[in-house]
Amino acid sequence: MSTKKIIMIEDNPANRMVFKDLLELEGFEVTSLEKAEDALPMAKELNPDLILMDIQLPGMDGLTATKILREDPNTQAIPIVALTSYAMPGDRERALVAGCTGYITKPIRVDSFRDEVKRCAGVKEEDSNKEAECSQSPSEDQKQEALEEEGVT
Ligand code: MN
Repeated sequence: MSTKKIIMIEDNPANRMVFKDLLELEGFEVTSLEKAEDALPMAKELNPDLILMDIQLPGMDGLTATKILREDPNTQAIPIVALTSYAMPGDRERALVAGCTGYITKPIRVDSFRDEVKRCAGVKEEDSNKEAECSQSPSEDQKQEALEEEGVT
């Protein structure tokens, strides 16, 4: 299986670091960017398996960037998972209408973050590392606690 590529757009440095670590632990090759403007040419160049798109960004917001990616034949088929820190009624619908494939609310839960990314990136269960799954309970709880202690949202 070839390595799956993810472009992550997130303006919060702490989130960028944590999300990148989590994704790399799952075997993804991650390109992280701070601005949606930079993601548009990068998406064409890399043709990633998934784009993780923060919605609240300085400059171009994530929903606008998603609409542009969806209108471009070169990028319209790439799955996009929205990241939003304000879970207001209607946010999920707005993200899906803009063309997002999936939706993650911050602060993240490690297990649902990972599940949503893998589902949208088309990672099949047989590709997963069985040993990692067997030992997941304590370490996942510890990771979640660590996130909460750091106040990462
Ligand atoms: Mn943001």
